[in-house]
Amino acid sequence: MGLFDGIFGKRQTPAGSGAAPSRPGGPVSARPPLAAAGAFKRPDPPFAEMNNYLLIILDSCRYDSFMAAAPKVITKLGPVERRWSYASWTAPSHYNLLMGLLPHTSPPHVYASDYYKEDFVRFNERFGAKGIEFASFVPHLYLPSYLRQTLGYFTHAKVSLPVLNPKTAINKDFDTFRLMEKHNDMNAMLDEMTFSTERPSFYILNVGETHYPYARPSEPRDLWPRLSGVHGVFKHLDDHVIEGKLKADTKVQPFFDQEKLDILRGRQIDTIQYLDGVFERLFDMVPKNTYITVTADHGELFGEEGYFGHGPIQHDKVYEVPFLEGRVR
Ligand SMILES: [Zn+2]
Repeated sequence: MGLFDGIFGKRQTPAGSGAAPSRPGGPVSARPPLAAAGAFKRPDPPFAEMNNYLLIILDSCRYDSFMAAAPKVITKLGPVERRWSYASWTAPSHYNLLMGLLPHTSPPHVYASDYYKEDFVRFNERFGAKGIEFASFVPHLYLPSYLRQTLGYFTHAKVSLPVLNPKTAINKDFDTFRLMEKHNDMNAMLDEMTFSTERPSFYILNVGETHYPYARPSEPRDLWPRLSGVHGVFKHLDDHVIEGKLKADTKVQPFFDQEKLDILRGRQIDTIQYLDGVFERLFDMVPKNTYITVTADHGELFGEEGYFGHGPIQHDKVYEVPFLEGRVR
């Protein structure tokens, strides 16, 4: 029996899913393109007054940084929960989030299948729907596919981190998918967001201010902290390889002192306080039937037990994330 069979029931193919084309992988399309006649036909939303749904990921924002920042606006959504990410770095974590598996509460004495069931039923509230048939989540097991092909949503992604760029496997069944020009400018995402009056919209926003180097968009680049070894790992890997092996001088990077790491943690807290103002703008601009989830894709290490950052790290702080959600009004 498959992992999700107990949640979604018998395997079946949702009507029309076989005809759905894959989406173009370009940087952005300005308007949700309507498919040509005979191809994918987006269904009308099956429930009256469905919500727009925003899934906002504060990249690398660890739980205690969020609490130390004490944002006043974001927390209007609801109580902040301490939850746990399923993954320790950006790409697998976003894939997981887009499967609908939001950071978990790590409940003891509960079977995973029971937890998943309870967690998925909450999507009724998020989407403003009653009695969603989760069987039609199969076989894609992917929120954008389900939202677009079954619930008739427009689906959009705005991402800050190049590891999520539109050519990656994450870009499936989105009407628009955009890698932002700056890695740290949530305000620029808001400039481009529109909400259809004809059907609900889904947005995933991957927000980069909270990611290293933890910089407000107004801060000049030459004032950012520079740590060698953490920039453009994939892009520059070839520079460090000779005949399939790492050059000797690139194997070991000097590590940072705790004073510097404390400054970096302070910078992450500062970006959350800055983002609170951006959320104020967001809350003012979204239509009233909008449900918003705010969380992080993973945490971050600032020197605990000799670790910095996230990724190949096994430590509580790399999984510990804030989670809150609700409607603005
Ligand atoms: Zn990340």
